[in-house]
Amino acid sequence: MSLDVLAISTHPDDVEIACGGTLALLTARGRQVGILHLTCGEAGTRGTPEERRLEAETAATALGVSELGFLDLGDGQLRTGTAEEELLIARLRHWRPRLVLGPAPRDRHPDHGRAHRLVEDACFYSGLARRGSGEPHRPAAVFSYMQHDPFEPSFIVDVTSVWERKLEALAAYESQLHQQGSERDEPPTKVASPEYRSAIEGRARHYGQLINVAFGEPFGSRLPLSVADPLELVPGGLS
Ligand SMILES: [Zn+2]
Repeated sequence: MSLDVLAISTHPDDVEIACGGTLALLTARGRQVGILHLTCGEAGTRGTPEERRLEAETAATALGVSELGFLDLGDGQLRTGTAEEELLIARLRHWRPRLVLGPAPRDRHPDHGRAHRLVEDACFYSGLARRGSGEPHRPAAVFSYMQHDPFEPSFIVDVTSVWERKLEALAAYESQLHQQGSERDEPPTKVASPEYRSAIEGRARHYGQLINVAFGEPFGSRLPLSVADPLELVPGGLS
């Protein structure tokens, strides 16, 4: 088993909201992509873990993802000790992704920042021959996707061609996100508001506009990125 990309999500729906377009773009190009949810979303104000699992499965199918996994590290109290590192290392050594997409170092939900550190650490430790069991594997890079808090992106992916597929994945999360024409009898939350739904599009349009396309998804990299030909970095469209 060898994945090109593994997107690691703290809670079900995180990666679909933050980088679902990028995942759809990768699978459309024949890349092998997996999603790992670190928690089952049991502390969410809306929906049940069972419901959220089904929603995650539907969303993964919409994005063309071939591998979907869940850990149970504690929604709302994310645990990040040695035992949790071992669980993540086992998944990394099984799926062997070249690239990992994970949460940013700081965000509104404290679980996201904790998950960032856990993902960074596990990706490094997974490459150590004398750590744990199994064939060592270290992803070549870990990039952060953007959730609530903005940061200066290292690069932006043009997701215009797959925007509808991202919306399909978001439509799967009936319990979490506002769906036009459907009202659930559950407490309102910021993420479930119509404004948040509009903000997902607004952010994608904002970052898309910066690279002269309709929709973009921003990412951060701890290290500078290399490029063989600087012209590949020149945006198209009107400058
Ligand atoms: Zn989250």
